[in-house]
Amino acid sequence: MLRGRFAPTPSGAMHIGNAGTALLAWLAVRNEGGAFILRMEDLDGPRSKPQYAAGILEDLQWLGLDWDEGPDVGGPYGPYNQSERREWYEDAFRRLERAGWLYPCFCSRKDLLQLASAPHGRASEGPVYPGFCRELSEAERAEKARVKTPSFRFRLPERTIAFRDLIMGEQSFPPGFGGDFVVKRADGIMSYQLAVVVDDGAMGVTQVVRGSDLLDSTPRQILLYEALGLPIPQFAHVPLLFGPDGKRLAKRHGSMIGLSNLRKAGVKPEAVVGTLAYLYG
Ligand code: GLU
Repeated sequence: MLRGRFAPTPSGAMHIGNAGTALLAWLAVRNEGGAFILRMEDLDGPRSKPQYAAGILEDLQWLGLDWDEGPDVGGPYGPYNQSERREWYEDAFRRLERAGWLYPCFCSRKDLLQLASAPHGRASEGPVYPGFCRELSEAERAEKARVKTPSFRFRLPERTIAFRDLIMGEQSFPPGFGGDFVVKRADGIMSYQLAVVVDDGAMGVTQVVRGSDLLDSTPRQILLYEALGLPIPQFAHVPLLFGPDGKRLAKRHGSMIGLSNLRKAGVKPEAVVGTLAYLYG
C-alpha cells in the first residue's frame, strides 16, 4: 500500500506555498487509496514552537486535508513528533558509527563559513565540507576531543548517486556532491537528514512528496537508507511557488500568503485549494 506523508517543521505559520506541497502529497495518496501520515519535524527545540504545530494542524483541517496517522490521532508507527523519537535516531546513529560511516568533526561553524564563497557542488545546507577532519588519527581525535565536543559527519563514498524523481525526472549527483554531511550536531541534536530517513523508514513511507528546495538533500538521504538497510521510497519534488519579485514565497510577500490570515479575511478553503490545483495543474 502507498504510504505518503507531510512532514512540516513547526518553525513558522503555514503559507500557501507549504499548502501546495501538502495538497499534492495528500492528492497522491488519496488517489491511490493509500495512507497519509502527518509528522511534526520539531527536533530543533528553539526554532520549533508548539503554537506553530497547532496552527499547522488547524490550517490543514481547514483546507480539508485529512490524515490517517499523526501527532493528534496516533497510529501504529508513533510517536509522530520527532522530539519524541530521539531513541530511534540514537540507535541509527550507533549503527552507522559501528559500520564505519561516521567520523567526528571538530571544525567550528566560523571556520566553515569562511569557506562559504566556494560555489562548487554547494548544497542548500551550506558550503561543501572540505574534509579537514576526515583523516585525523585516533591520537589527534582524542586530543581535540579534550577541548571541543565534535559533530559527526557521514563519509561520502566516491560514487554517483542517481534516482528518478516523479516530477523532476532523472537526477544524477556527482561523487562527493555537497561534501560529507552532519548527522549529529555538536549540541547533540540529530540532523534533519538522519531523522527524516529514520522516520520515513520506520513509518513505512513509500512515497515522499516535498518541496524542490530539498532535492539536493535526496542523494544524502539515499546513502543513509542504503547504510541503514532501509528500502528507498519514491521521491517527488514539487516546484516552489514564487512571489511577483521572482523570489521564493516568504514573509516578505506580505501577510496574505499566510493561511490563517486568508481564513480570517473570509477566503474560502475551496478557493485556496482550487487556486493551488490550478497553479500545479
Ligand atoms: N521538515 C521539512 C520542512 O518542513 C520537510 C522534510 C521532508 O519533507 O523531507 O522543510
